[in-house]
This record gives sequence, C-alpha cells and structure tokens, in this order.
Amino acid sequence: MAGLLAARALVESYDKVTVVERDLPLAHGEARRGVPQGKHAHLLLARGKQLLEQMFPGITDELVAGGAVAFPVLEQFRSQVIGRDVRRGHVGEFVSMTRPFLESHVRQRMQVRGVTFLDGHDAVGLAATDGRVTGARVDDGHGERVLDADLVVDALGRGARNAAWLAELGYPAPPTDELHVDIGYSSRLLRTPHDALGPDKAMLIGPKPGLSRAMALFKVEGDSRWLLTLVGYADHPPTDDEGFMDFARTVVPDETFAMLKESEPLSEIRRFRFPTSRRRRYDKLRSFPEGLLVAGDAICSFNPIYGQGMSVAAMQAEALRRTLAGGDHDLARRYFRAVARLVAPVWRLAVQADLAIPEIQAPRPLSFRLTNAYVERLQRATSLDEAAASRFFRVTSLVDPPSRLFGPAMAWHALRTHK
Ligand SMILES: Cc1cc2nc3c(=O)[nH]c(=O)nc-3n(C[C@H](O)[C@H](O)[C@H](O)COP(=O)(O)OP(=O)(O)OC[C@H]3O[C@@H](n4cnc5c(N)ncnc54)[C@H](O)[C@@H]3O)c2cc1C
Repeated sequence: MAGLLAARALVESYDKVTVVERDLPLAHGEARRGVPQGKHAHLLLARGKQLLEQMFPGITDELVAGGAVAFPVLEQFRSQVIGRDVRRGHVGEFVSMTRPFLESHVRQRMQVRGVTFLDGHDAVGLAATDGRVTGARVDDGHGERVLDADLVVDALGRGARNAAWLAELGYPAPPTDELHVDIGYSSRLLRTPHDALGPDKAMLIGPKPGLSRAMALFKVEGDSRWLLTLVGYADHPPTDDEGFMDFARTVVPDETFAMLKESEPLSEIRRFRFPTSRRRRYDKLRSFPEGLLVAGDAICSFNPIYGQGMSVAAMQAEALRRTLAGGDHDLARRYFRAVARLVAPVWRLAVQADLAIPEIQAPRPLSFRLTNAYVERLQRATSLDEAAASRFFRVTSLVDPPSRLFGPAMAWHALRTHK
C-alpha cells in the first residue's frame, strides 16, 4: 500500500514510475503471500480515507459501488473502550472492506500513463555509483538486472532489508525505537444468517482491565460477509474451531456470540503474530545516499490494533508529494524530517496506549503514568458524553492531532468524569 501511494506521489514529478512487486497479482479478493496481514481486519481510518479521496477523487464511491460498506462512525459502529460502551455520535464515515479489496482498487487507479508494474520481480538490492543510488537490482527468477532510476523508494514493508543495503554502500543503519508488544491475531471470514449486528456495520472491543484481549467484527464486501478478528496480548487466540470460539466467548457480548455460533465459516482461521512495534529514525542519520528514500512500514510499523499503518502510509505519500514539489535539493533530509514530524505523534499515541497493557514489558516513566491516568478519564468520558466520544475518535482516527486530547475541551471532559 505504501508503494502504491508513493507511486501516486511520484507520478506528479517523474515521467516514468516503475512499481516492483515480488508477488504475482491474485484473483480479486485474495490476500497475497507478501501481505499476509491482508487476511485480518483492516480498518481505513478517517484520515486515510480523506487522503485516499484526495489522491484518487471518487474512489470512496467506487469502493462502495464495488461492495464496500460505508457507514457513519459511532452511529452504526458499536465500540467498547476499557470495558465501557462508547456513546453514539457522529464523527464521519467509515468504509469497511477487506484489505485485498482496497488494495486492488488503489492499484487499478494507478494504471495510468507513465506507471509500469513489474510483478513477480524480487528487489534484491541497490545499484550505486560513488555513494549515490542509481537504481534497484531486481530478479524475476531468471536472473538479476539493474533498473536504472533517478530515485528509488524502498516500500518493501516491515521486513525491508534497507539497513543491510545501506551498510553495503558504507552508510550507517538508522537508530531504531522498538516496543515489544507480542500481539497475536486470529481471523475468519463468516457468512451470517441475518444482519449480524442489527443496523450496525462494525463492532470493535478493546482490551479492558483484567482482560488484554480484543476483537473486531466488520461487515465487508460480498453477500452477508463479515470478518471476525480476535486479538490477544501475550495469550494469542487459537486457530482451531473450538479454541477460537472459546476465545471469542470471553470478548464478545452474549448476543453477538450467539450469532457467531450460527454463522457459516467462509475461510480457515488464519493467524498473525506481531512481536514488536518498530520506528526507524532515518531523520537522525547524518549521512544518507542521494537517490534513495524509504516509505511505509519500512520506516514505522505500528502495533496493528490501532489501525494506523495504511493511513500513515498515505500521510507519508502526501509528505513525499509536497517535498518533491519543493525541488529535489537535499531531498532525503527534507523528506525524512517531514515524515518524522507526522509519525512522531502517531507513534506516541500507540505507545501510550500499549503501555497501559500490563502484559507489555517495558519501563513506565512517571510522565507516562500521569498521562495514562488522564487518558483513562477521557476513555471513561467517551461512554458518558457524545461530544467526548466524538472528539476522542477524531484523534484516534488521526483526523485531529493527539495534542487535541490535552486541549481545554477534552480537559473539561476529564475533569467532569468520575469512576
Ligand atoms: C495483522 C495486521 C493488521 C493490520 N491492520 C491494519 C488496519 O486495520 N489498518 C491499517 O491502516 N493498517 C493495518 N495494518 C498495517 C498495514 O498492513 C501496513 O501498515 C500497510 O500495509 C503499509 O505497509 P507497507 O505498504 O509499507 O508494507 P506491506 O503492506 O507489507 O507491503 C509490502 C509490499 O512489498 C512487497 N515486497 C516485500 N519484499 C519485496 C521484495 N524484496 N521485492 C519486491 N517486493 C517486495 C510485498 O509483497 C508487499 O506487496 C495491519 C498490519 C498487520 C500486521
């Protein structure tokens, strides 16, 4: 996704953009091998949706026409935060769909003049002359060749080997922030006998004191299809039928569980283990080769439970477009600074929430404990007050900056909230 969105930014400044992808395209709706997370619930936050619409005007309507499910957030969206039901309100519209469905539509919109897709090509390294990157080395299974380029953007995801490639060119690896979260996902596509949640189109239940488990149930494209994702910190949801349902029973409300039992499984139960959130600080490097940039999870891969990754990839693509519009002098430094500025508050938001989970082993400084007590009050306020719920969700949807949580309106909600 980061690669596709970076390509969207690049076509505005370059005549020719080549998207290199190791996988071959699959039939509509299937998750590719290179994106195993595509089998799990993927929520496009409001900020990501706004940016996608900006990049590809009309794409929301297209997605909905293709079967994606649009609904007003908090109105047709049941959610629980720290064990309390969030008040209904109006924050904007969500569009629910599977990740492969979204990706295939974005890719379709990138079939434009000047963009070439090289599928089935493995990016195996960089080509460089005198410390400047001059292209990418790719292998289609029959041998390696060099694709010459004025600019290479590494959007190879969380497993990107960029640090090793930099070392080969004599450059240092970026300093890295990590938080071990040890989160496990198990997901299954279901067909429900009737509209599973009445008028609601999605349900999200977050961890609560005493139970570090969570779940997402989203209506997705296709006839009566729902994607159920179960999540656990340290104790991961099982992948056998009985264990999966036993786990679900501990998280979902009784009436929803009864409906799940009546549902028809449309897929196997698929698992994903995500050990560590990771942010690579390219902005802190003193030297970096010309002709190379990095994007997406290769820069920052967040605990997926907050659904931030694709939206941040879109924010980075927007930063790339703006940086390129300002000329190509000192490109890497300007781009990585812009990216660091947008990633930092999102990273802090996620880490702050993670440190509230007792299973996560990490030091908790006093500043965290004070902020956490405040944020917990805000979370309680979301169950009591519609305005508090809307304001809180605008921040977690990345529409408003996290600093808004500490503004006068939210402080007022926190002050008025009792246990
Ligand atoms: C379980 C899980 C759930 C998630 N849920 C959400 C969510 O709800 N909302 C959200 O916004 N984000 C979510 N994310 C994060 C989201 O998937 C990513 O942040 C987003 O896809 C951006 O990542 P990316 O494009 O950088 O990397 P990826 O999506 O991993 O894509 C990397 C691409 O590079 C290709 N590739 C890799 N190596 C090579 C190579 N050597 N040569 C050629 N091609 C290569 C891969 O095939 C793939 O197509 C979730 C992540 C996980 C793990």
